[in-house]
Amino acid sequence: MAKAEPDAHLEALVRQGSRAAVAVVFVVSASNWLGWATGTERLTRVFRSWPQMTPWAALLIATLAGAVLAQSGEPSRSRVWVGRGLAAATATAALAILAEYVTGRSLSLDQVWFPGGVRALPRTWPGRPSPHTGVTVLLLAIAVGLTRVDRVAVRVIRTACLVSALAVPFVVLTAYTFQALSVVEVAPSNSMGIATAVGLVLLVAAAFGARPDWNPVAWLLARPDGRALLRLGALFAALPIVIALSRLAFLALGVREDVVWALSISVSAVIIGVTVFYLSQREQRLLIDRAHLIREREDAEARYRILAENAVDAVVHLRGTRVVWISPSVEATFGLAPESWIGSDFNSHVHTDDVKFMSVGEQCSATDEPAIERFRINRGDGGFHWVDCRSKAYVDADGEDDGVIAALRVVDDQVEFERRLEHLARFDVLTGLVNRAEALDRLEAALDGPRVDGRHIGILFCDIDGFKRINDTYGHAVGDIVLAALAARIRECVRHGDTVGRTGGDEILVLLPAVRDLDAVANIAESIRCRAAEPIEYPGGIINATLSIGATLAVPGEDATTATARADEAMYRAKETGRNTVVQV
Ligand code: GH3
Ligand code: MG
Repeated sequence: MAKAEPDAHLEALVRQGSRAAVAVVFVVSASNWLGWATGTERLTRVFRSWPQMTPWAALLIATLAGAVLAQSGEPSRSRVWVGRGLAAATATAALAILAEYVTGRSLSLDQVWFPGGVRALPRTWPGRPSPHTGVTVLLLAIAVGLTRVDRVAVRVIRTACLVSALAVPFVVLTAYTFQALSVVEVAPSNSMGIATAVGLVLLVAAAFGARPDWNPVAWLLARPDGRALLRLGALFAALPIVIALSRLAFLALGVREDVVWALSISVSAVIIGVTVFYLSQREQRLLIDRAHLIREREDAEARYRILAENAVDAVVHLRGTRVVWISPSVEATFGLAPESWIGSDFNSHVHTDDVKFMSVGEQCSATDEPAIERFRINRGDGGFHWVDCRSKAYVDADGEDDGVIAALRVVDDQVEFERRLEHLARFDVLTGLVNRAEALDRLEAALDGPRVDGRHIGILFCDIDGFKRINDTYGHAVGDIVLAALAARIRECVRHGDTVGRTGGDEILVLLPAVRDLDAVANIAESIRCRAAEPIEYPGGIINATLSIGATLAVPGEDATTATARADEAMYRAKETGRNTVVQV
């Protein structure tokens, strides 16, 4: 018997049932002995016409009940051995009784208990249990003795013994139910009392319950068709009981004996038939619901497959970074057929600069939030596509974690758009210079950064002279050309690492992060001034424009505003001294 899935509730129920069965067996045995001791026949045979339960039978089943109890639950080693000892003692007694029958010689076992009482029984050896009882007790003793031996073969033998031990008491109980006492008492020497039969059936149940993990009911329920089999068994067992009960009911109603059988069988057939119809209808409904569910699932799967196969995005199933499956749409998106992806390392398709920042395939469990990452994937023609990758741990149909499912969406346009936005946020469209915010940020960063000995931050504040007049004379468009030309000339006059930013209308800030001294700053300012003063060509002719420049050095520890304000002030002084000049402070 395969080990059933552990079900704590069912196990507890089985354990309680087993203990209750043992308790009933003790009560039945004790009442039997009380009956023999006091001569109360009702306690030994129930009805006068029924066979009696012998003291030996009562003692044997009580001993077996003790053996079952000792090995129930989670017994210690000593309890297990006590149980085995009791089972062995019972088996020995049963064997001795059977030996008496086989050899035809008495060991005088029959009158060990209550000789006075048992002598009245109409038997050859009156106190001795029937051979059926002996065989059943022996089978039970073997099974109970093997309760705590955990081997597959033993488990099979034990189950076989318990199931075989049910045969005789089952027939006997059926015979009592149908009042077919001739079956029970074929001969005076082989009868089985009703209490013995009940006790034996209860002992089989208790023995099964002593090992809930080997419990055939749990094992049956664990099978896919377990419930159906259990129901079938219950209906099979219920049929004789229903017939017997309806027979008794008809007899009680005064129906004639010869009609009773036909009526009770017909009524029982109807009762069982209606029950089967009701149960099969329920099952049918469940099956139909399940079929609907499967159909819905298949539909959903088909829809998802269509989505995965036709989406512009590619969907990929990864185990670690190995590609297990990828949607056919990958070919249209990235140029390579799915076969070229399946089995490959996903990272081998990713831009080498991006691989080190990626964590696709590292999700541990389904409860993790989906990871969203952006990287470049090879297009197969040497180029790359930017993708947004959304990945989540994948749980298969059995509920097991099985890698990661990642959806890849090409976002080239979005990346380009974001780049442009970012550029717009930092650069001036007309001149191509960085804007005021970016220029001041860079100055702050330079002021906060490490200082190199002998190197200073030079600041130039440039303002176009009479720019309003240029606008007024030549028009705003020409003013723009002048502004852009001067910006380009300033850029030409400084080094690559220097910053030239448009901070206002016609104001341009120059940051020189590694100058020797103020004279060096003034020299650069002077070269800018000269270059700016050269004539500027525009489609309608030539314009002369000049710059007034304030030059200063950032003092260690001061902030960007203070430093630029000083350069601004110097520029105003340049304006005051006649424009087209450099003033250093
Ligand atoms: P000053 O010598 O005192 O600097 O005289 P100015 O005329 O240059 O006076 P100011 O610097 O105060 O004026 C700047 C002018 O620049 C004002 C505005 O009309 C003009 N301006 C600002 N932004 C732009 C622009 O983007 N394009 C053009 N063409 N002109 C601009
Ligand atoms: Mg100006």
